[in-house]
Amino acid sequence: MNPTKKIALILTVIFLLPAIFFSVYEISSLSKDEKMIEEIYYKQLEAIIFSVNQYSDDALNSWVYKLELSQQKNEAEELTTSLQNLLSLNSSISLGFVVDTLDQKPATRIFSLDSTFADSLRVSINEELRKNIAQIDQLVKYKRSGFQKITSIKSEYQLVIFIIEGSTNLQQVAGLVIDPEIFIQDLIGPRCQVIAKNQFVLSAFNKNSGALIYSTLQGDTTSLNSMPLAKDLWIFPDYSLGIRTEGASLQQLVQERTNTNLILLLGLDAILIVALILAFRSIKKEVQLAQNKSDFVSNVSHEIRTPLALISMFAETLEMGRVKSEEKKQEYYSIISKETNRLTGIVNKILSFSQTEAGKKTLHIEELLLTREVREILNTYDFHLSSKGFEYSFEENPTIRIMADKQALAEMIINLIDNAIKYSSHKKRIELTVGSDTTYGWVSIRDYGLGISAQDQKHIFDKFYRVPSGNLAKSQGTGLGLSLVKQLIEQQNGKISVTSQLGQGSTFKLYFQLSNANG
Ligand code: ADP
Repeated sequence: MNPTKKIALILTVIFLLPAIFFSVYEISSLSKDEKMIEEIYYKQLEAIIFSVNQYSDDALNSWVYKLELSQQKNEAEELTTSLQNLLSLNSSISLGFVVDTLDQKPATRIFSLDSTFADSLRVSINEELRKNIAQIDQLVKYKRSGFQKITSIKSEYQLVIFIIEGSTNLQQVAGLVIDPEIFIQDLIGPRCQVIAKNQFVLSAFNKNSGALIYSTLQGDTTSLNSMPLAKDLWIFPDYSLGIRTEGASLQQLVQERTNTNLILLLGLDAILIVALILAFRSIKKEVQLAQNKSDFVSNVSHEIRTPLALISMFAETLEMGRVKSEEKKQEYYSIISKETNRLTGIVNKILSFSQTEAGKKTLHIEELLLTREVREILNTYDFHLSSKGFEYSFEENPTIRIMADKQALAEMIINLIDNAIKYSSHKKRIELTVGSDTTYGWVSIRDYGLGISAQDQKHIFDKFYRVPSGNLAKSQGTGLGLSLVKQLIEQQNGKISVTSQLGQGSTFKLYFQLSNANG
């Protein structure tokens, strides 16, 4: 497996797979969490309603307790005063009563702040009690075992009855007629306000008519049916207490939370994937560079070894005096000199590259006539080109003035011509053209050689990169030429482009800043 594939696999296994597993697990458990949160919420709402009910029971109990205390003093007056007090302090109680004996002719004492009203009620209260005799028996049993139970009786009036025990241990049925709506307004309401704060809305409804009796939120229009949770009031089962969260509904809150979690999770995954792609790319580049560097060392060794071998062989032959003819000697001298030049060329290229890369090369930018510079280079290269069997053409454009470093310009063009020579096989032709557009003056070098694939075009300007092909052995190089050209042209605020097709040849184009003098 090649190193980049290995890295991709490692990144996937270490980072991507666990993240994907985790996300899938989290997303699948989101709906479970949603249900659990909803349940917890409902339990909380239930507990709130429970506490309100408990509070109403406590209020009733405290009333009954007071009455019982006064009854135990065995003074009719005490009970009367106590009941009168209760009535005057609580507008929800319209009257109170105590049944002395529960035989055929019960003597029911009625206590009311309104005496006329009391008399008319005696009969019907007695009737109600008689109808509910079984319930009363039950209450008496509870009381005997020490438990005070208060029960409401469904009737024309809202009756709550309980047993009180006087000082003679005589148990008597007592009761209160309560207006549930006033009770809710006066007692339950303030309690609900304390509990609700700004988080909940608590509302009481008449179950039969659906009418809203009280709400902690003034002007609230939510009906009983649309309350997420509603429970009967213990003492007035005809009335219900509903609760909901203020603002967004429970479902909305949970849904919002789930959505936020989902977005965060997916966002996190997206960031991770982007980060991994970036990491992978940079690692891939580093691996490629390391690979190119090691290729570079072997290329350069090979490049140097060949001329050195030739030089040493011919020098030795000459040294031994074996070559007699002057002609042969001259030929050997010229081979030695040519190979020495080649060696110098390689060393110079490496030096120039390392200097440029280290930013040590200072460029002297001046105004130059592009055509004149290219012509000069061609004049010195003319012999070299024709000796290699190349013919060339030059389309001039003598007026174009550019801003460039004279030496760097020559170095770049020579590099490109050298490449054109190196990578041409059958058709040995090079075309040079000088031209300009609105911002740049350019020179293009076209050959009809091997060409470069689109994939390789992306890398040929990288340091040490050489196109991996079977022909490489034939045309040795360092992989530094184009990278050096690119660095040099960029230092002069210019750019380089390539258009090429495999087997059809390539065109490299160097763009220079135009001089202002172009007019
Ligand atoms: P070198 O020529 O020393 O290998 P360069 O940096 O000059 O290094 O070029 C990088 C690669 O680009 C070369 O290995 C070669 O494959 C390709 N290349 C450069 N110029 C040409 C060209 N004119 N035609 C075809 N291929 C080229």
